[in-house]
Amino acid sequence: MPNIDLHCHSTVSDGLLTPTQLVKHAAARGVDVLALTDHDDIGGLEEARRIAAEKKITLINGVEISVDWRGQTLHIVGLNIDPAHLQLVRGLSSIRDGRTVRACKIAAQLDKFGIHGSLEGAYAHAGEGRLIGRTHFARFLVQQGYAKDMKSVFKKYLVKGKPGYAPHQWAPLSDAVAWIRSSGGRAVIAHPARYKLGKDALDELLLEFLALGGEAVEVITASHTPEQSLLFARHSQRMGLLASRGSDFHGPGESYFDLGRMPELPPNCTPVWHDWNRVM
Ligand code: AMP
Ligand code: MN
Ligand code: MN
Ligand code: MN
Repeated sequence: MPNIDLHCHSTVSDGLLTPTQLVKHAAARGVDVLALTDHDDIGGLEEARRIAAEKKITLINGVEISVDWRGQTLHIVGLNIDPAHLQLVRGLSSIRDGRTVRACKIAAQLDKFGIHGSLEGAYAHAGEGRLIGRTHFARFLVQQGYAKDMKSVFKKYLVKGKPGYAPHQWAPLSDAVAWIRSSGGRAVIAHPARYKLGKDALDELLLEFLALGGEAVEVITASHTPEQSLLFARHSQRMGLLASRGSDFHGPGESYFDLGRMPELPPNCTPVWHDWNRVM
């Protein structure tokens, strides 16, 4: 059975490895099929594709889009998208612009709290003019000694109700799914258990997602406990959704799962790759 990992990040968003390093790392871990799914950016796909060809890995063009649904942030993964599709390219560019504005607000919040220089500090991690996210602020804050690790820095500073949090409006769910679909891709709800939706809200989300043309949910992801994976395997069967598997790898030392090193999909799930000829 091929080793399939359909969710990971490079330095193009908030990962620690360049697309080249990431694909080489995947090859060394025995991954056969890899989707690079940077947050709101597809700028790493071309480089990743070149190295994947060398390493005999099947590279899936992916992206992880930040979405606002009923005031809550959701992540929607797009698989097999066309990175040249204009609507998608423009949509992602507008989300990145929003990230730049939010970063200034986060820095202003931290300033008020007496933590100075965080914007420059975060950009030192992201790269000047590159996509900026909370992970880059987190790395700066840990480096400065404000928290001991990534998990605790989020808890202390970067989530709702904490000093370095700035509320933000992401793309509507309907737009994200439309961009993915119109570019030929398949839309997947990333790490669904993380949103802590009650039963009714979850059903409403899944029905709305299906109605928009969404097709899959992540069942195996670093964000899920084994119980949550089984729960979402059942939800996927119940709703007629396909099931995906991804490590959500961000880099050595920062991630729960290494590339390709996570459990298989539970039996009875229909894999999101079931009709991908190159994979089966
Ligand atoms: P953003 O999209 O900029 O709001 O940042 C979201 C990213 O922050 C996620 O993709 C993770 O990489 C990271 N993140 C969120 N929560 C945590 C956490 N509790 N611990 C470590 N990283 C986190
Ligand atoms: Mn991330
Ligand atoms: Mn995510
Ligand atoms: Mn991710």
